[in-house]
Amino acid sequence: MSVEKKYLKKYALKLSLDSMKIHKCSFCGRQIPPGFGIMYVKNDGTVLRFCSRRCYISAIEFHRDPRRQAWVRKGVKKKKPIHTN
Ligand SMILES: [Zn+2]
Repeated sequence: MSVEKKYLKKYALKLSLDSMKIHKCSFCGRQIPPGFGIMYVKNDGTVLRFCSRRCYISAIEFHRDPRRQAWVRKGVKKKKPIHTN
């Protein structure tokens, strides 16, 4: 019993820590606060996290490329262009 309890305690702690993590959206790259968003698990075990239904639909149903979406590019900060003089 004690071993089981110990294991449960450890597992619960791990779960709670995992749920408090701030994940990034797999589509647009925005940070997802704990308690928000959609978690999608594929048949092969890969986990995709989405900040909104908009990102989820675009990625899963329409197979869109995030680099081609204007509203995704807007949120991501642009890298400074390298001057070659
Ligand atoms: Zn997103």
